[in-house]
Amino acid sequence: MKYYSLNFNSKEVSFLEAVVNGLAPDRGLYFPKEIPKLPESFFANIQDLNDAEIAYEAIAPFVGDAIPSDILKNIVSDTLNFEFPLVPITDNVSSLELFHGPTMAFKDVGARFMARCLAYFNSLETAKKVTILVATSGDTGGAVADGFYDVEGIDVVILYPKGKVSPIQEKQLTTHGKNITALEVDGVFDDCQDMVKTAFIDPEYEDKIRLTSANSINIARWLSQMFYYFITYKKLAAQSKPIVFSVPSGNFGNLCAGLVAKLMGLPINHFIASTNVNDTVPRFLETGTYDPLKSVPTISNAMDVGEPSNFIRIQKLFNNDFQKLKKVMSGFRFTDSETKKAMKSIFEISDYISDPHGAVGYLGLQEFLEEHPDHLGVFLETAHPIKFAEIVEKTLKIELPIPQQIKSIMKKEKKSTPIQDYADLKAFLLDRVS
Ligand SMILES: *Cc1c(COP(=O)(O)O)cnc(C)c1O
Repeated sequence: MKYYSLNFNSKEVSFLEAVVNGLAPDRGLYFPKEIPKLPESFFANIQDLNDAEIAYEAIAPFVGDAIPSDILKNIVSDTLNFEFPLVPITDNVSSLELFHGPTMAFKDVGARFMARCLAYFNSLETAKKVTILVATSGDTGGAVADGFYDVEGIDVVILYPKGKVSPIQEKQLTTHGKNITALEVDGVFDDCQDMVKTAFIDPEYEDKIRLTSANSINIARWLSQMFYYFITYKKLAAQSKPIVFSVPSGNFGNLCAGLVAKLMGLPINHFIASTNVNDTVPRFLETGTYDPLKSVPTISNAMDVGEPSNFIRIQKLFNNDFQKLKKVMSGFRFTDSETKKAMKSIFEISDYISDPHGAVGYLGLQEFLEEHPDHLGVFLETAHPIKFAEIVEKTLKIELPIPQQIKSIMKKEKKSTPIQDYADLKAFLLDRVS
């Protein structure tokens, strides 16, 4: 498989180069030359395959010959060494729990897959040492820190907005040490993301540092998020009903991966882009006009994104055909008070504790099911409620037990370096190689 830049001004590259580069030299996002179709027989016989076998078939055409198949099989099964339970809430609504990985958010899947691909590429003689520069609104940082911790040949530098991530998230990205460094930015998430983008186009690092991204910009992170849509389809197929996934979205990597799965032939009928008041995509779906705004803080802070980076890929998947896209995807946005109400109502009807992101997904699903009651609905529970303990406990008037993964990390000491602006970031990066 070859990848081209969505800015159309860079040469086509292999999976290896696309993963190592992160962004194309013309600053465009990489996009596969084609979306492969999986054979009918794969879907007909999916019940005979285990999770890792299913995921391998889904990703293999995108990797091509960049990784030998026996190694890719190991990478996939190592990535998926935790469960993806589908928990019924009502007759036709289930929660897909994506938070059973080491940092208790769905980003563990993409981060683990990408880290293992890069570790393999690093083992090749042609590889050069890589510094991963990543901006986080909360969960990316922890998942990337955990996924890449102690991986040889890779340094990780994480930028996060001071005071705008939860205490658990902060511990998850500041306590690793070794090859992981956290920079605490005096600003909001968009400031962090802007600094990372500026660093990627700054020629002064050339020859000194090989910078790459581990946001869902990176195809290894983006595409591996297909895995759980395939795995979940296997569980739902027997019911022979149309399937709809509601995806609580920020940068839209997760939803975009689901769309790729659909275009590969996975029988999913519809997707719902569920957002908080940072509603650039739902507004676009309503009006046809793309009008990104500066992000505003909400209780579902991992989705506080004003300008979703994967939007351009979603457009491309449908050849920029607005009507085609609208047939496959609906969008809804919800306020914090609606989100809290949903958390309460989910708890009342089924004793189920959702986090604010999952609750936004649930709300979007409810909107759609009102008009389409024949569908089987799944909302993605993208983070464990403990990661947003304060808001969950206050809203539901309960006390959450603390899982072991979290207990041990809370005891560790935070180590971060405060920075103000891009000049600080640059000084930091250059200082490390001088
Ligand atoms: C990152 C994140 C999201 C948003 O995912 P995107 O792929 O950026 O749309 C939603 N919920 C949680 C908990 C997250 O960490």
